[in-house]
Amino acid sequence: MAEDENTSPGGIGGADLDWSEQALTSRRFGDVYFSAADGLGETRHVFLDGIGGADAWAGRGRFTVGELGFGTGLNFLALWDLWARTAGSDGRLDFISVEGYPLTAEDMARAHGAFPEFDVISRQLRAAWPDRTPEFHHLVLDGGRVRLTLLFGPALPMLRDLRAQVDAWFLDGFAPSKNPGMWTDGVFAQVARLSKPGTALATFSSAGAVRRGLAAVGFQVEKRPGFGGKRECLRARYNGTAEPASAPVLAPGASVAVIGAGIAGRVAARSLTGAGMAVTLFAGGGAGDAPPRVLVSPRLAHPADPYGAFMAQAFTHAARLLPAGENMGALHLPPEEDTRVRDRRRLDQLGWPEALARPVDADAASDLAGVQVANGGLYFPEARFLDPAACVPVDGVEVIAGRVTAVDGGRVGWPSGERRFDAVVLAAGPWCGELVPAAGAGLSTNRGQLTYLPPTEASKHLRLPISFGGHVTPQTDLGTGLAHIAGSSYAPVEISDDWQAVKPNYHLRPLEKLAQVALALSDGWRAAPMGGWAGLRAVTPDHLPVAGQVCGADGVYVLSGFGSRGYQTAFLAADMVTAAMAGGPMPVPGRVAEALSPGRFQERQNRNGG
Ligand code: SAM
Repeated sequence: MAEDENTSPGGIGGADLDWSEQALTSRRFGDVYFSAADGLGETRHVFLDGIGGADAWAGRGRFTVGELGFGTGLNFLALWDLWARTAGSDGRLDFISVEGYPLTAEDMARAHGAFPEFDVISRQLRAAWPDRTPEFHHLVLDGGRVRLTLLFGPALPMLRDLRAQVDAWFLDGFAPSKNPGMWTDGVFAQVARLSKPGTALATFSSAGAVRRGLAAVGFQVEKRPGFGGKRECLRARYNGTAEPASAPVLAPGASVAVIGAGIAGRVAARSLTGAGMAVTLFAGGGAGDAPPRVLVSPRLAHPADPYGAFMAQAFTHAARLLPAGENMGALHLPPEEDTRVRDRRRLDQLGWPEALARPVDADAASDLAGVQVANGGLYFPEARFLDPAACVPVDGVEVIAGRVTAVDGGRVGWPSGERRFDAVVLAAGPWCGELVPAAGAGLSTNRGQLTYLPPTEASKHLRLPISFGGHVTPQTDLGTGLAHIAGSSYAPVEISDDWQAVKPNYHLRPLEKLAQVALALSDGWRAAPMGGWAGLRAVTPDHLPVAGQVCGADGVYVLSGFGSRGYQTAFLAADMVTAAMAGGPMPVPGRVAEALSPGRFQERQNRNGG
């Protein structure tokens, strides 16, 4: 298919809607999104009844539906509505949908206007709706009871990258005669790969090629009466084989110990609680206090690399889950021209719209910053700096203030007790390997230091955090008075070192670089008194976190290696661990899950003959 004017270089196309017809129509495909007469009636008949209605999830804790063609989300809303009215209180719904030409939230609102009965849930959907950037987006709805994994891109490559086991399918990709690309043998083969014996399937089409294609990959296909004036539609059951599950799956209600109450542990606790697990959080660790403020801002890298793909998705995911913070927006103003050129290229490769990032020259950057800066760079409207205490409330979680000393399978021991859990998540930063040696593979310890700077005549006007290799924030109230926060140093350290003592010689480093970008700011601080904060972080050689099951340790998972970016990346990584444990769809492409797998360091060593 030819590129169209709605497609940005690394991006995907828009929906190209025609509202003038009786039913919402795609100009690109010359077909309707749903029936003009009764769209909801058709959805309920073809798709919901087609997979067996509420009986399909009766008696199951978790139910996973896959869809080809998200469109306006009508099928999703109708399913969510029925599921919410009929599933048990500990039920969980996963919906995965592939969409190559996403609607905007505004267009969806207009389409949803025809279905006022879904007002409450459709608002939730639109509030979480991602910008039109390619690849996976994982939306946490209804406090985690409903999860929507959107795959923005062409059906076949998106499905190939999906790791999931689907209980029921909706095939809804426009008529095969108008859109054959959605009904190919390759697409059917992926549908089969993601199915298990008994998986249901429903579609509005009864075309011979669809029946034959589904039968060829292992579905038993049956015609049934169509909706309205249409003669027939199809339902099918998968009779083929299934890929073996990689780990036993825990049902809602299972007990999980999370060890460590830093950002990783807290985010894991929230994610697992959302998935229905009974979580106990062990908060006796030793990485010191959280930093007083954190800057959450994108890190751009090529999306073809798992690192770049993960960082991009992790940022947009965190931005949906984090509160607004003290202010919105940040400037990235590297003084080196070649870094700025590379950043712009990355932006194109990522296909990010202006709502996520936009290039600015020195004048525009100075206007946004409130102070004179020497060079331009990128403005990130969704970046923010915030108080970590406000980031991740952990409600409904048992907290034990004991330092864990032993983990053996599901057994957790601490000085005053011992308990058995169905699973354990090691979220103890650099200490994971002390509890389960294999969990420490690839992890080492880094010390980070932040510097507190007093407001000066020039700095008082700084309105946004700026990064330039280091970073400096606007003034903020630390309880002990107003200060700017600059950072951050990054140095390897032994845990036994005197790491908590703030080191004055480190304070000047960010200021040296700042002088190239905003001399007036750095000049005012040269002779100023400075305090600071120091903490420890776990880092990995490839700068990606570790998230997943620990090799050779059944029921033990690790979530660590976040470096200085935990507040940006822990949300997505924790949802990956939850998916692995609960058997939900992996919220990231398979190659990204692979890149974060705890066993990767050992595998690399084996490959290199080490
Ligand atoms: N289920 C939708 C609803 O509830 O509104 C209606 C889906 S509409 C009939 C078909 C959708 O498939 C469109 O949104 C279209 O953009 C998408 N689509 C068509 N061809 C595609 C392809 N090759 N890859 C991904 N999405 C595609």
